[in-house]
Amino acid sequence: MSGFNTRAVHAGQHPDELTGAVIPPIHLSSTFAQDGVGNLRAGYDYSRSGNPTRDNLQESLAALEGGHRAFSFASGLAAEDVLLRTVLRPGDHVVLGNDAYGGTYRLINGVFGDWNIGHTAVDLGDLTEARNVILQSKPKIVWVETPSNPLLKIVDITGLSEIAHEAGALLVVDNTFATPALQQPLSLGADIVVHSTTKYIGGHSDVVGGALIVKDDTWADRIAYLHNAAGAVSGPFDAYLTSRGIKTLGIRMDRHSANAQLIAEALLAHPAIENVYYPGLPSHPGHEIAAQQMSQFGGMLSVRVKGGQKAALDFVANTKIFTLAESLGGVESLIEYPYSMTHASVAGTELEVPDNLVRLSVGIEEIADLLDDLTSALASLS
Ligand SMILES: *Cc1c(COP(=O)(O)O)cnc(C)c1O
Repeated sequence: MSGFNTRAVHAGQHPDELTGAVIPPIHLSSTFAQDGVGNLRAGYDYSRSGNPTRDNLQESLAALEGGHRAFSFASGLAAEDVLLRTVLRPGDHVVLGNDAYGGTYRLINGVFGDWNIGHTAVDLGDLTEARNVILQSKPKIVWVETPSNPLLKIVDITGLSEIAHEAGALLVVDNTFATPALQQPLSLGADIVVHSTTKYIGGHSDVVGGALIVKDDTWADRIAYLHNAAGAVSGPFDAYLTSRGIKTLGIRMDRHSANAQLIAEALLAHPAIENVYYPGLPSHPGHEIAAQQMSQFGGMLSVRVKGGQKAALDFVANTKIFTLAESLGGVESLIEYPYSMTHASVAGTELEVPDNLVRLSVGIEEIADLLDDLTSALASLS
């Protein structure tokens, strides 16, 4: 297989057979002419069931993660919903990390809870505790994010996959933060990878999407069935934008990682900051495992601000280049307050986040400008 950046540019992006167009056309058609009943020209009959632009993206995603097959959805949560409904039946159990993405937790707890799916949230960074919980509760799925959102915890994917498999569970890795440019969970023992392609994979904050990538064909046909039967597929234009973003994923992640490392180091030394969560810092408890399973440490970091909630709220209100907004992974830097923004859906639950926490999605701008922006905003805290 060719190298990552070569796959990012070429997988699923073959010049158009008919015209030679280097960029494959966007197939907006909802339906396809048949040469006699059931006699399809290229296997396509209706765009929910199959669409060439979506197929191109799926081929690319499978190649990037080293997977057997990929499925592209209307959002990350739509992808998660189909995976959970494919694998789980009433009475089944899920074990997930205790700082999972708020929307994932809400889906498992708030939606699947009503269909008699149980769950246990546990610190998956502690493999001894994780093993106890997993062997005892016998889940169908162990669900992990590494690095996690918003506390950037690191979980040993290989170690956790051995425990999950010992218990007869699937290991699902949400690889949204690392992306396949930095970490390829299927090669470390995971069974299925989940993405919110809204984030780094799309990379430009202009498209919402999600994906599932499977290691082998065990679940592929059943996921394909629900992908079509429930219908939360990505539209052709969304699929095109996502494919366009993927071509620069590798170089964007290089820059995101380099900028985030310098910001993490600067904030660690800043008197207004209590704590910095970034796996690239040697003081991070997951640094060594991250260095083994990731090629770089990514563009996300969180800090706890001295001065509590008020200082955190003032900090996020005072930056000028870092835009106050939810989401992450675009070329532009964003800053947010998880307690009442991205993680508002877990307030009051076991997944509640600290009220002096600020999360940064570090973009690809000039590092000097980003550092100036953050230090000026911190200087203005009273
Ligand atoms: C955003 C996000 C999701 C949900 O994806 P959507 O595209 O917003 O539906 C899932 N996991 C992680 C880690 C995310 O950041």
